[in-house]
Amino acid sequence: MSMSHTPDVACTRCKFFDDHVKAQAADEGLCRFNPPVTQPSPESHGLWPVVSREDWCGHFSAETPVAGSGD
Ligand code: SF4
Repeated sequence: MSMSHTPDVACTRCKFFDDHVKAQAADEGLCRFNPPVTQPSPESHGLWPVVSREDWCGHFSAETPVAGSGD
């Protein structure tokens, strides 16, 4: 499967994207591919990477198969 950037390959279409977050911009969400990172202090919660809906990366995995992808 080619990972070229098309409108079908975007965080908002990825199974790891989480938009159920308060206090985020409307076009942002969290990437849940990896565990939280970068705790400012031992008492703090870890941070999930913030991504925009139109971002993408090589770990993209469609929530549902993309039409015409052949996968
Ligand atoms: S950064 Fe990658 S793994 Fe995370 S939501 Fe976007 S496409 Fe998916």
